[in-house]
Amino acid sequence: MNSHASAQIRAHIARDGHITVADYMDLAAAAYYARGDVFGRGGDFITAPEISQAFGELIGLWCAVTWQQMGRPAPFKLIECGPGRGTLMADVLRAAKMVAGFLPAAEIHLVERSRALRDKQRTTLKDHSVTWHDDLDAVPHGPQIILANEFLDALPVRQFQRTPNGWSERVITADPTQALTFSTMLADNAPIPIPLAVTAEIGAIFERSDAVTAAVAAMSQRITAHGGAALLIDYGHTASALGETLQAVKSHQYTEVLATPGEADLTAHVDFGHVKTTARAAGALVHGPVEQGLWLKRLGIGVRQVQLAKDKPPEAARAIEQGVRRLIEPHGLGMLFKVMALAHPTLKDLEGFEGKIEFQSGP
Ligand code: SAH
Repeated sequence: MNSHASAQIRAHIARDGHITVADYMDLAAAAYYARGDVFGRGGDFITAPEISQAFGELIGLWCAVTWQQMGRPAPFKLIECGPGRGTLMADVLRAAKMVAGFLPAAEIHLVERSRALRDKQRTTLKDHSVTWHDDLDAVPHGPQIILANEFLDALPVRQFQRTPNGWSERVITADPTQALTFSTMLADNAPIPIPLAVTAEIGAIFERSDAVTAAVAAMSQRITAHGGAALLIDYGHTASALGETLQAVKSHQYTEVLATPGEADLTAHVDFGHVKTTARAAGALVHGPVEQGLWLKRLGIGVRQVQLAKDKPPEAARAIEQGVRRLIEPHGLGMLFKVMALAHPTLKDLEGFEGKIEFQSGP
């Protein structure tokens, strides 16, 4: 067990009698990402930029086109939240530099709390000038493009459970045998905002991430005030729904959420319905969500795959094709993953989202 995270969690329980699921996730995630490079075949999980360079390259072209639609501001902020190894940003920059003026205008800002991952990103992006921040709020204002792939899913969620006595917050306690276990606690102060309470059965769980709400509100406010767009890619559902999605993954296998805090990747599905409501309330235009497979196809991933495979030995060409297929096929990442853009109201047409903007009637 990661003794640091475990000790912090137990100290919290000793003090308060319990810890909320969100506080548990927060402490476990901080310890987990502090370990450094947890990605890829030898790590715990693999993400789209690590599967195929085509992913980041197409996002780079998307950034360049969006920058042109913004009126080619120079300088502008190119911000990534939760950059992992720095692979996505490296691929974005390599592709987007084809568009004259983009690279010299881009000020690169990375929002990353893990010092070990910052070191990894520094190596990956050694040819570029980069500034790191703990929070998006610390990034200076100005026209911007914000990228976040598998960032929102890593932010802590609260869980609420329907009990015979009403909706309760799900918490974690330590029983006498010292194993961590789930329990519930009736909310004694603020009422719990459950949009689907009427149809929920006893035992039903609803998740809501205050951290996602805050991050999306902050992105939307920046964009509305200073221009630009945010591209959010994550797995999740298009509308708020009941259900427990919190999961732990270690060495590419699912594991118990409470078994090894700080040693497994904890994530929860993103509620894109709630993201949309939050972004609109802050004045942003919302594009999508669109399934990742469809979005990548609209951006021309098929053409890029052919280019990458050209003149490669058969085995390398096959690996490129397999990587691309994994990104777009429904049983890979193509359907579960969704792409959404938040934009300044002047950015009405963004690449990959054609015909996907709904009439805006407010939140
Ligand atoms: N985008 C990368 C990595 C996804 S993992 C990829 O697709 O490969 C989640 C990333 O978000 C990690 O870099 C992690 O350290 C970072 N992260 C998680 N919680 C964070 C927080 N609250 N603030 C800033 N970064 C965070």
